[in-house]
Amino acid sequence: MTCNAYVLTKFREPLELRTFQLPTPGPGEILVRLAASGVCGSDLHMYLGEDPRTPLPIILGHEGVGWVEAMGSSQNAVDGRSVKEGDLITWNRGVACNRCYACKILRQPSYCTGRQIYGINLSCDQPPYLNGCYSEYVLLRPGTDLYLLPSSIDPAAVCSACCSGATVAHAFDLANIHPGDTVVVQGPGPLGVWACYFARRRGAGQVVVIGGSENRLEMCRQFGATHLLNRRNLSLEQRKETVFQLTGGRGADCVVECAGTNGAAVEGIRLLRQGGVYLSTGYAQPAGLEQLDFFTDVVRRGVAIHGVWVSDARHVYHAVTAALENPELFASMISHRLPLQEANHALALMQNREAIKIALVSQI
Ligand code: ZN
Repeated sequence: MTCNAYVLTKFREPLELRTFQLPTPGPGEILVRLAASGVCGSDLHMYLGEDPRTPLPIILGHEGVGWVEAMGSSQNAVDGRSVKEGDLITWNRGVACNRCYACKILRQPSYCTGRQIYGINLSCDQPPYLNGCYSEYVLLRPGTDLYLLPSSIDPAAVCSACCSGATVAHAFDLANIHPGDTVVVQGPGPLGVWACYFARRRGAGQVVVIGGSENRLEMCRQFGATHLLNRRNLSLEQRKETVFQLTGGRGADCVVECAGTNGAAVEGIRLLRQGGVYLSTGYAQPAGLEQLDFFTDVVRRGVAIHGVWVSDARHVYHAVTAALENPELFASMISHRLPLQEANHALALMQNREAIKIALVSQI
């Protein structure tokens, strides 16, 4: 048996349809028939050749949800339940080596130097080939963290939990949000939507979102935003005044950067109260230098700045749990559902910024 997948063979060139032999899974491996595959902003950066991790040729796609087709040996999900053929699952996109300093001593597998990431740093030029989710099937390798899903759930609702949701869960692990706190979210894309949800879920009283797209800002309201600041209508100074007015002149307890644009970090850090926490999740690739007065902006005000890079098994678990709490809400984030054959169209929609979130969904 064979299956189809879309392969990036050359940067900025259309993905190529290729046919692969379906492998028989060996010990620890699982063959998954994909039900939904999220199209991530990182996929576009990879397509454009802006992500240095990208090996060619590659099957893009790291946000997969699918049915277990065949297993090479018995396995459990992260919560201890056994996974069986026919189950609907998702998985941690990164497979850590579990041997290195980051894995063993720091216990932070997201910094594992040997981390293998489906659809990001695994080429399809050698066995087992099926290493990405813009495909009918993916082969999960030994050591992949598995998450069982109810078979009745809309698979597309869970896609973004695997990547943006998990990264935001990682961010909120680094800050203590208390009831009544004010959290500012910079950027109303999928990361920002997740940040609104986690902020409210953790008890924030006010969630203020800064963005430039009215549609995206309105979507954030569905996920818990209480105040929307459109940067097209409000100057930098007006945005700062608004945040300080809303917080009795103190500034925000926490600012979550989900924008990845030059200037966002300086603006966000200056919105914090004394002792506030800045969580930066949005810079997936270099966006240039930002200039802070470290005495005035950071030290004198005692703020903490956390860079947040990808996620570990626990973060995926927290995001998947959140998506399962409210699947209709998370499904509403998907602005476009396209068949796999429209993978190139999906990337074009991302490039033109016409989509909030795209899922490639199986026709079956
Ligand atoms: Zn992603």
